[in-house]
Amino acid sequence: MKRVVVCGRLSDEQLAELSNDFMVEDFRQVHSLEEKDIRCALASAQGLITASLPITPELLDAMPMLEVIATVSVGYDNYPLEALSRRGILLCNTPDVLTETTADTGFALMLATARRVVELADLVSRGEWKKSIGPEHFGRDVHGKTLGMVGLGRIGAAVARRGALGFGMRILYAQASSKPGLETELGARRCELDRLLEASDFVCVTVPLTSETEHLIGARELALMKPDAILVNIARGQVIDETALIDALKWGRPGAVGLDVYEKEPLPADSPLIGMPNVVALPHIGSATHETRHAMAQRAVDNMRLALKGRRPISPVNIEQLRWAGSEANDEE
Ligand code: NAP
Repeated sequence: MKRVVVCGRLSDEQLAELSNDFMVEDFRQVHSLEEKDIRCALASAQGLITASLPITPELLDAMPMLEVIATVSVGYDNYPLEALSRRGILLCNTPDVLTETTADTGFALMLATARRVVELADLVSRGEWKKSIGPEHFGRDVHGKTLGMVGLGRIGAAVARRGALGFGMRILYAQASSKPGLETELGARRCELDRLLEASDFVCVTVPLTSETEHLIGARELALMKPDAILVNIARGQVIDETALIDALKWGRPGAVGLDVYEKEPLPADSPLIGMPNVVALPHIGSATHETRHAMAQRAVDNMRLALKGRRPISPVNIEQLRWAGSEANDEE
């Protein structure tokens, strides 16, 4: 029987389901794959279900039997993809099931930042609401404004849909490929990133982290934004140069930011971002609802079950690079 090491957040039921087909080793409480017990288990495992624990090529040397990694995330920037493919290890992720929830988080950040929700709720909870709120506490409208999407993939499209259909926003987008369907559905217009930054009232970042997108938004790009524009990042922290962002915020360009992700996570307690009135900072909760995290874990279980049985999983990442030997047809699902 093949062995699967589980360190992602699976429910007891999902763990039991996996145990029907595989010898499952439960490491759901570990915080690092470097711990002695788990390394020992990984040495003879064919499958690994994990969330965002870093995997180095050196760690791969300690997992000679590994065939499949199922990550409980859509982003896979923390996996050494080339090294995995070279060793014939299939990586699977969890797209689609988290798209709408992550888009909700993006929109929550847009609304909270524009309407100063956190700052003003704090004022009430401190007992400092003594008179009617005046212009010094007014926010900015979201409806009817221009929303610039840096990346219009699955999550980007879901954010843009909320903006266009729910809030009457004009949608711009910057990415290499055009999306004629979304241009028709939402009236979205593709443009260069610089133009998008100059023209948008809200800029929402939803690109994956790659060598091309690292620090895609730096000091030069921030300086192009309207002084009162709002920047939201629900992608990965490294896509924005955080040092440049902190500087730019002090100069009021952008006017405010809503962040779910950071260059270093958890955000260090001495980060200048903490306590800035024009920053709404969330602790990387893009997909963190009960329903969605359950669906993501289930996707990882399904991917693992199919892949270890030699069938095509639902969402493989590097299957083309591997010339996957398993059956292309997936008649089980
Ligand atoms: P996706 O469907 O692959 O969309 C990514 C989009 O980014 C694609 O349309 C791609 O366009 C575009 N893109 C890539 N490089 C670009 C560049 N240099 N400039 C502009 N656009 C570029 O992925 P997704 O499912 O929407 O997820 C996106 C990312 O969100 C994930 O990789 C993950 O890191 C992040 N995420 C974060 C959370 C959270 O908790 N905050 C939750 C889920 C996902 P082309 O096809 O034209 O390249």
